[in-house]
Amino acid sequence: MHELSLAEAINKTVKELCARSEWVRVRRIVLKVGHMRQVDAELLSFAFDVVAKGTVSEGAELSILELPIVFRCHACGKAIGGEGTTFACTNCGSTNVELLSGMELTIESMEVESQQVL
Ligand SMILES: [Zn+2]
Repeated sequence: MHELSLAEAINKTVKELCARSEWVRVRRIVLKVGHMRQVDAELLSFAFDVVAKGTVSEGAELSILELPIVFRCHACGKAIGGEGTTFACTNCGSTNVELLSGMELTIESMEVESQQVL
């Protein structure tokens, strides 16, 4: 299951960040996921809940920002967006295209609690 290994990778990154920064709890994680990644947001949230159990991320809310696929065609200069899965320009048919957006898989931001000093 693609989403489960992804959830494990996210949780590992979050744990490392927390250990380094002395954050004790994660409230919310905002994730940027490109459409090319074909991630099922619901499955990913579910998988994350499972892997986060017993870690600093337990109960954290996972917000997934899905970014659309955008290409730029080097032949005609047009930006091509949408659900397309082909790597060809819809304007001129050239395959000389560059992916501008759609492959993202990054933690955009996190809401955390740091250790309380009383
Ligand atoms: Zn083109």
